[in-house]
Amino acid sequence: CGIVGFVSNKKLFKEGFNSLRSLEYRGYDSFGFGAVTKTGINMVKMVGAISDTDINDFSDLFDANVVIGHTRWATHGGVTKENSHPHISNDGKVGIVHNGVIANYSRLVSKNPQWTLLSETDTEVAANVISDSLLKNNENIISALENSLKILEGEFAICGIIKGRVDTIFAIKRKSPLAIGMLEDTMILSSDMSAFSEFSRSIDVMHLDDESIFLHTNNKTTLFKLKNNTLISCDLSYKH
Ligand code: GLU
Repeated sequence: CGIVGFVSNKKLFKEGFNSLRSLEYRGYDSFGFGAVTKTGINMVKMVGAISDTDINDFSDLFDANVVIGHTRWATHGGVTKENSHPHISNDGKVGIVHNGVIANYSRLVSKNPQWTLLSETDTEVAANVISDSLLKNNENIISALENSLKILEGEFAICGIIKGRVDTIFAIKRKSPLAIGMLEDTMILSSDMSAFSEFSRSIDVMHLDDESIFLHTNNKTTLFKLKNNTLISCDLSYKH
């Protein structure tokens, strides 16, 4: 399982594709990409290995400025296109990729019979938790992610995009690894350092702590940590 997320003023699908390909050794039963386009969240998912595909199969995403990608090692649900990531919330508002396991997912499913789930994964539940939290928090992303961290149990690095927001990427993290890499005009999220190797000369990298809430929107990056149920603002001091 490997995740990448890219947000930039430039179109960066090609770099995102190559980065995800460099994570293939982490999981190779299926993979997928999601991007915010004018029509909503656009996804392409495939069973098999990314190295067996041609980048031109993803031309629908070439114009995107924000892209997420995932290579899967299935824990919940079989190896199918429906179960591969990204997963999207019922209302089409939130799309996420996820490494790890949502331990309380069956409890969350029983508590929310209004959700129509299209996959067998624990990840789709997390997408709905985040989307419901946005609604409950007047679309405030940081508050919604704080609320989601309190609801979700288990291990996760989640990276997500939001419908209509072509300049926004977010992440939450507990126990699964997640790092951010920053270039002058591009922010990259990844579960694995090898995703940054394309940029090794110029990139500053920082590993996120557990209980982190990361948001890059409108060219601004904010990082918070949930400590003893309180949100603490963190410094973005980039380290090589
Ligand atoms: N639990 C998720 C799934 O089964 C994520 C697995 C992974 O980390 O690749 O889809």
